[in-house]
Amino acid sequence: MKLKINRRLIFRFFAVLVAVCCAFSSMLFSAPVVSADQELEDLQNQYDDLQKKIEKNQKELQAVQGDISDAKTKINALNSEISSINSQIGILDSRIGLLNSKINTIEAGIQQTNSDIAEIESNIEIVDTQINETQFLMQDTREQLMGRLRENYMTGDASTIEMLLSSKDLSSYFTRKELMTRVSESDAQLIKELEVKIDALNTLEEKLNEDKQALNEKNAQLEEQKTDLESSKADESASRQEQQSKKSAVSSKQMEAQSLLNSLDKESAEYKATIKRQRQEQEQLSKQIDEYIKAHGSSTGDTPDASYENDGKMAWPVKFQSYVSCAYGRYSDGSPHWGMDICAVGGNSRGRAFNAAQGGKVILAVNDGNWNYGFGNYCVIDHGDGKQTLYAHSDNIQVYVGQVVKKGQQIGIIGATGNVTGPHLHFEVRVKNSDGSVSRVNPAYYVTNTTA
Ligand SMILES: [Zn+2]
Repeated sequence: MKLKINRRLIFRFFAVLVAVCCAFSSMLFSAPVVSADQELEDLQNQYDDLQKKIEKNQKELQAVQGDISDAKTKINALNSEISSINSQIGILDSRIGLLNSKINTIEAGIQQTNSDIAEIESNIEIVDTQINETQFLMQDTREQLMGRLRENYMTGDASTIEMLLSSKDLSSYFTRKELMTRVSESDAQLIKELEVKIDALNTLEEKLNEDKQALNEKNAQLEEQKTDLESSKADESASRQEQQSKKSAVSSKQMEAQSLLNSLDKESAEYKATIKRQRQEQEQLSKQIDEYIKAHGSSTGDTPDASYENDGKMAWPVKFQSYVSCAYGRYSDGSPHWGMDICAVGGNSRGRAFNAAQGGKVILAVNDGNWNYGFGNYCVIDHGDGKQTLYAHSDNIQVYVGQVVKKGQQIGIIGATGNVTGPHLHFEVRVKNSDGSVSRVNPAYYVTNTTA
């Protein structure tokens, strides 16, 4: 019987096998029942069309991922620039603070100096007035004395006396003694008064000189303080300007980073939408495979062809030491995962053989290296009892549609085609129920890891 089956029948004959006796089977099965080849070709064409779109999406995704990575690098660089500028602003802040307190101190000093100067100037004014009064009084006393001396003692050396009286040395001992021996008691009294006035004048003039010197010193101090104030104010204003320009630099850098973040968010949203769309496309493929199984697969309750040597117990699809990297159920992003992912312990999965979990016939084999909704290269084996197994992401599918394979027979090598982050075998079990519906079931119900 095996020899007489043509490729058009490979998916359909199990359903009717039980009902037909062996004597008529070869005649009946050689007649064309359904155009399975045409359906397969149509399906492959749809795959190819969709695959082109997906490849385009993949390229866009790669560009987006590149942009995201660039944006993150830029944001990191901007953030470190911002924090360095902010620390410069902090330094300028404390410099401005110091300069302001220095300016305050200088200004208080200037105020003090100005009030000192005002006090000295008023002192000088007072002393000036006192000097003027004293000089006026002296002049009066001197004139009185001169008149008297001219009247009473014109003895020839009056010019000497006059000279002595005008002299500031009147109080010197010898001058005084000389005069006292020559004048009357009342005149001596006048001379004493003059002496006192001359002393007072000397003291006042001395004080005036001291005050003028103090005034000069204070004025010099004031000039110094004003110069200091000017330079401190210029320094403070330059610091403020520098700080202002740094602040505007920070704000423009923050705006730049913000706009990058905004575009990053947008791109990230687009990225997520694309991922979602691709998962939906994968789901669509799974449904199409279900449709294909509905049309061509065996149903639960069917008796497998003897050539399949179906022993009713599936084997683990690899023979090397392996583990399940992602179980049936959900991907980490929450979307459904209809199979189990099997990897080699130690990470060297790529290039290693995978095998038929059960004997059966190959009903789908795609080895074009394309995306194929994320499966990459993959094949489906119908085991004749309503169960089908699917093997995906292969670097090379080594069977062809219609080929009968034995349980444990090598059917391909593990690769990283389609939607993968690394090489692994994606393994699925589907069951075509007796009502024709297809269930994608947990492979763990059928296979046990015998290599662990
Ligand atoms: Zn998987």
